[in-house]
Amino acid sequence: MITGDLATTIRVGDRRALARAVTLVESTRADHRERAKQLIEAILPDTGKATRLGISGPPGAGKSTFIERFGLDGLKRGHKIAVLAVDPASKRGGGAILGDKTRMAELARAPGAFIRPSPGADAMGGVARRTRETILLCEAAGFDTVIVETVGAGQSETTVAEMVDMFLLILPPAAGDELQGLKRGIIELADLVLINKADGELLDHANRSAADYTSALRLIRPRIAGWETPVRAVSALTGAGVDAVWNDVARFHALLDKTGDWMRRRAEQARAALFTEIGDGLLARFRAVPEVTARFAEIERAVKEGTRTPADGAQELLSVFLAPRVG
Ligand code: GDP
Repeated sequence: MITGDLATTIRVGDRRALARAVTLVESTRADHRERAKQLIEAILPDTGKATRLGISGPPGAGKSTFIERFGLDGLKRGHKIAVLAVDPASKRGGGAILGDKTRMAELARAPGAFIRPSPGADAMGGVARRTRETILLCEAAGFDTVIVETVGAGQSETTVAEMVDMFLLILPPAAGDELQGLKRGIIELADLVLINKADGELLDHANRSAADYTSALRLIRPRIAGWETPVRAVSALTGAGVDAVWNDVARFHALLDKTGDWMRRRAEQARAALFTEIGDGLLARFRAVPEVTARFAEIERAVKEGTRTPADGAQELLSVFLAPRVG
């Protein structure tokens, strides 16, 4: 199908066309990249309208159970919901998050939802770009809420937080001493913290955890003026507290719209992505120059052994890279 037709079918909300377009965006083949670029340019005027939500948390916290429940609640509220996964650790064919579609079976079957498993690439840079483009495709297809799920694995949270409007952290109930070891950097990214599994025997534990996290968060300066990151005990299993998260999202959106932070954050994210793309593009070209490759291993070894400084090694490689070449 030619690019213009694909853009048209995406705009009418055809999920099969959307899935095909995402596959195109995920491809590394040069001709596919070119078509993907044209497609993104064609749909760009129809993008930007969704609320982009990032959801992260350690494995087993209940992310997929929560997203299914939250998604089904959202459909009842009239939302159209796309769920994408970013999983830096997964290898093709391996245990990617969302790889097992049955985990969100009910949401996956719902006509108002679109679920896309992780493409399972190794390079975070590539994943970030493809996810950014996939978000745009979902917006053009009329999804008003795009959820980007990532497993809590360090780098991926930051990457996802930089491409969404609101970042949600899902944690299992924790004891006070576990709180001490909490990765500060990650909780600082959160606009909303959910303590999941507030049901059955874990109910009291979850409520206590929520109170502990609330006190811990008071010590952190809010990222956004006027927004103190709420901590909620929820149960993805029973659904308790889950629907209320939609109200938090609406409140957050309204506040940031009012202060202008919504658009400011997006502009800043776009600017940061521009620099990332420049960096990635330059590195790809650098690595593709045979004269660079020829010198690289030796310089790398010398730098690792400490017989050359990184600055000196980089300078030599950059001069090789920038030297005029025939052809
Ligand atoms: P993920 O790895 O973060 O996506 O976690 P899953 O959604 O796969 O859930 C991990 C396990 O926790 C599963 O056995 C779920 O049934 C269970 N689980 C998820 N949410 C809840 C909850 O709210 N309450 C309880 N009791 N168990 C839950």
